[in-house]
This record gives sequence, C-alpha cells and structure tokens, in this order.
Amino acid sequence: MIRADDAYDVVVIGAGLAGLSLARQLLLASPRRILMIDRRAELPPRRQKVGEATVQVSGFYFSKVLELEEHLLREHYLKYNLRFWWKTPGRANDAFEDYSQSYIRSFSNVPTYQLDRNAIEAELLRLNAACDTFQCQHSATNIDVRFRSQEPHVVTFEAEGGARTVFARWVVDASGRGRVLARRLGLQRVSPILHGSSFVWVEGLVNLEQFTNCPSREIPRMPIRRHIGHLPFWLATNHFCGEGFWLWVIPLQGRTSLGLVYDIARVSHMDVDTAEKLIAWISREFPLFRRALSGRRVIDHGCFRSCSYDCERAISAERWALSGEAGRFTDPLYSPGGDLIALHNTLIAHAIAGDDASLPSKCAAYDRLMRAWHDAYVPSYAVSYDALGDQRSMNLKYTWELAVYFAMYVFPFINDLFASEAFIATYLRMMARLGRINDRLQAFIDAYYRWRKPRRANTAVPTFHDFTASAELRIAESAFYEVGVSLDEARRVLSAQAANLERLARIIVMQVVAEVVGDATVADDASLRAAIDLDSLRFDPSQMDEWCTGARGTAMQASR
Ligand SMILES: Cc1cc2nc3c(=O)[nH]c(=O)nc-3n(C[C@H](O)[C@H](O)[C@H](O)COP(=O)(O)OP(=O)(O)OC[C@H]3O[C@@H](n4cnc5c(N)ncnc54)[C@H](O)[C@@H]3O)c2cc1C
Repeated sequence: MIRADDAYDVVVIGAGLAGLSLARQLLLASPRRILMIDRRAELPPRRQKVGEATVQVSGFYFSKVLELEEHLLREHYLKYNLRFWWKTPGRANDAFEDYSQSYIRSFSNVPTYQLDRNAIEAELLRLNAACDTFQCQHSATNIDVRFRSQEPHVVTFEAEGGARTVFARWVVDASGRGRVLARRLGLQRVSPILHGSSFVWVEGLVNLEQFTNCPSREIPRMPIRRHIGHLPFWLATNHFCGEGFWLWVIPLQGRTSLGLVYDIARVSHMDVDTAEKLIAWISREFPLFRRALSGRRVIDHGCFRSCSYDCERAISAERWALSGEAGRFTDPLYSPGGDLIALHNTLIAHAIAGDDASLPSKCAAYDRLMRAWHDAYVPSYAVSYDALGDQRSMNLKYTWELAVYFAMYVFPFINDLFASEAFIATYLRMMARLGRINDRLQAFIDAYYRWRKPRRANTAVPTFHDFTASAELRIAESAFYEVGVSLDEARRVLSAQAANLERLARIIVMQVVAEVVGDATVADDASLRAAIDLDSLRFDPSQMDEWCTGARGTAMQASR
C-alpha cells in the first residue's frame, strides 16, 4: 500500500530555473501533487548563475506562459536586443565610440529580459510554495529512481537525517549539470562543440556609454547617435567579439555580469580561469574595459572548461523526461538555454496532462522535436564560430540565424503549436530542408570568413549596421503578429516563411559572390540569385567569375 503522503503526480529533481518553471507551469494548469528535491540547503543559492539573458521564446515563456510579467518588469531589466561590438583597427579602442557595432535599433515586440537568476528562482519558489499541492525538499542526497512501467516509479533519497521513499507517476530530471537521470540511464553523449567559459559578477552598472573620450555633457549629442540613436544600449546583451570568442556584458540590478565564451582552440582555459586572470584578459583584448573594470569589486566568479554536451533522448513514454541542462546544452552565444527550458517544459507538461495510451506516439514526436531544436543550432556554433572575428561575416551569419529563429522558433512557440503531433510532422519536414541549407550556408560563411580575413580594409573608421536593413529579416519578424492561427493557417505561414528564408540564403550567397568577383551588380542580379543551387553550395572563389558568366548567359538565352 502506498501512503497518500508518499504519492505524487510528479517528482522533479532539481530546483533550478528548469525545475521551478516546470512546477509553475504544471500548477497553473491544475493542482497536481508535486515533490521537488534538491541537494542544496539554500534555495536559490546566492552565487552567480549563468543563463541571464533571455530571447523571444524564453521571454514569452517566463512573462506570458508562467505569468511573471509584472515580476520581470519590477525586478529585472528589459533587454534591448543582442548587440555585437568589434574593435576598429588603428584605433585605441579604449572608448566606446572606437568600436564598430551591429544591432537592432528598436525594442523587440516580443519582449526579452535580463534575468537575475536568483531573483526569478526565489519568486518561482515563492509562487509554487503558495500552492498546497507543492512540496520542496532541500538538502536531499543519494537520489535514486526505480522505473516501473505499469505502476508509479519509486524514488528514494536521504534528507533530514533519514531515508525516504516516495512514488510518482512521472519523474522529471531538472538537476542541471548534476544530470542525475542521464547518468543513471546512460544517456550522456558528447557534443561536437568544444567551447569553454569564464564569467564574473562585478559591482555596479558597467554603463558602456560612460567610457568615452567625449566630455560628459556632450555624450547625448555625439555624432555616433546618428547611427545608434538614444536608447540605453547598456540594456542590450552586449557581445564584444573576436575570432572564435566573445564576451557578454549583461546589466543586472546593481551589478553587471561579464562572461567570456571561447573555442578552446583559440583561448587557453589556464589564461582565464580566475576572476583576476579573466579581467586582465578582457582588459588586454578590449582596452575599453581597462576603464570599465579598474577598481571594481568582484562579487563572484565561475568557469566551465567545456559548456556543451548532448543526450540520447529527453522524454520517454516510460514517464520520465529531462529539462534544462539535465539534458543537453549547445552554446550560450544566442542564449538558447531558456528557450530549451521553455520548449521541454511545455512538451513535458502536455505529456503529463495526457493519458497513458497516447504517450508512445506523443513522446516519440516530442523527442524528435527536442532533438531537432538542438541539432539545428549545432552548425552555428561548431562550424562558423571563427566568423565572430569579422563584422561583415557576422552580419550575414546573424541575419540568417535570427530570421530562422523568428520564423521557425518564435512564431510556433507563441502560438502553442509545438504540442500538436500533426504540426510537428509538418514542422520537422520544413526544418529538415532548412537544416540542409543551414549546413551548407554555415560552411560557406566560414570559408568566406577565411578568404576575407587577409583582404579586409583597415580603415580606422567604425562601421554601424542595423540588422533590420534586411527586408527578409523584417518579413521573418512579421510572424510575431500572426497570432491565434489554426493549424492550416500555421502551415501556410510557415511555408511562406520558409520560402522567405530560402530567398535570404540566396541573397547572402550573392552578396559574398559580389564581393569575391569585385562586381557590386552581381548582388542584385535576380537571374544569378535564382541560379544558385543551395543543395550543392560551396565557397570556391576560383569558380565564381566563371559561374556568374555562365549563369548570366543561360538566363539571357532563356529570355530570348
Ligand atoms: C557559460 C554559459 C552561459 C549561459 N548563458 C545563458 C543565457 O544568457 N541565457 C540562457 O537562456 N541560457 C544561458 N545558459 C544556459 C543556462 O545556464 C541554463 O539553461 C540554465 O542554467 C539551466 O537551468 P537548470 O535549472 O537546468 O540548471 P540549474 O540552474 O543548475 O539547476 C539545477 C538544480 O539541480 C540541483 N541538483 C544538481 N545535482 C543534483 C543532485 N544530484 N541531486 C539533487 N539536486 C541536484 C542543483 O542544486 C540546482 O538547484 C548559459 C550556459 C552557460 C554554460
């Protein structure tokens, strides 16, 4: 006999962002009995946690799905997009106006936030604990799970000096890098991405605008404002970029988070593995930070030799699932961690709400979708990371990636389409096609970056680029306003968006070809654009001139 006190609908292992969000999502839907168990005595911990920047999917998830909008606006900063910075050759680069920048000038209509992780976790814990059916066990050790197919799973652990056994229909692992179930079930897989990270919290706001050679009263009217405008760009997730590495600068209330992420072939972990070494490295690489960080109190520091890993599967009809870093993680460059939490939790919540008979097909579809989201990102991080070292290459890369993100990730998520098996089938077909294009395009951009590197003009003049100069990116963003769509309408929107993305891929290729052959007219030549075979795309400068002549000839013959 199972005592009623020991019977739960769901046991969640780990009270971090993933676990607490899942509990909130489940409790908002119905009063389920949830037991959360965590090894920590203090929840949330006071130390720095990474995962501070949100993007549109996670921003929507935390504010709208979890109904935290007021808390977010009260306790966290609204994020002013992602903003990239590059040093300008021939300049001292000790002032913000020396740097080239790429950005979006307006705020996103699907708002994003800079999270103080400990503050949002404290709020989630408070809201969950206010429900009678939620319990949280701190200081739990030696957690083990015995899976049973017909009966509730058996979860054992030690806490408060004794052993406890409980029973649960579902067990969800949200233990982050503890990876309790992945280890237990042998699901761990390595990732092709080999990137490390070192990060600090420093006291106070690093307001980039103040690190200038301009007298302070003239800052509001600096000529650079013609490009960047007047919004406080310190609210952005500011990325200072170099070949194979980037530094994030994220404002939190009363403190600033800075973190270096690097390809281990480009930066040695030994050079950045303490707060002092990291700050020295940053100040050498980006002289602006000599001013910004000198004399600042360091509040905390952490590092990972390796950020990325994969897992075999993340949800099973045997009534277990993984969410957050307990499953897989790619790379922080575009802040996908919160998005993965949003997607996994949403699918897990739908699986838990369903009946057992529907689980095999549902979990198979959900697992394929979770994998597709992960795999689609891998080439961006594993293939073309060096392109971070060049503004023009990165402008092309990010325009593509952001347009794919807006159309293929944000649009379905804000319409809650991902739980539908019928939608997933259509979606995965389109993602497979886009995935093949993406593989080719990422390799193409990487090769272009290497070709361009010795040829770049060292003009000593910073350049400014607004990503929304791309009409195709604006079309992708217009999907934010396609809301409340039926399944058929969603398919139509996605088909149109996929066609727009293919067009964007062709435009990007032609911009590169125009530069390589030294003929600007090539970029706008519709017949050349149409002649590109995206399935066999390769960056081969020696063939480009000949290819343009041939394709133009064929187009002329066809028009006669
Ligand atoms: C360098 C870096 C930068 C990142 N930046 C971003 C970003 O800007 N934006 C973004 O969205 N994502 C980012 N991410 C990803 C983000 O950090 C994760 O998505 C997020 O922290 C995962 O939260 P979680 O709840 O899965 O794990 P955690 O927050 O680590 O929570 C796990 C919980 O499980 C508990 N636990 C662990 N082991 C056990 C055990 N054996 N028994 C019981 N309990 C256990 C822990 O005590 C903890 O409370 C970044 C990742 C890295 C590596």
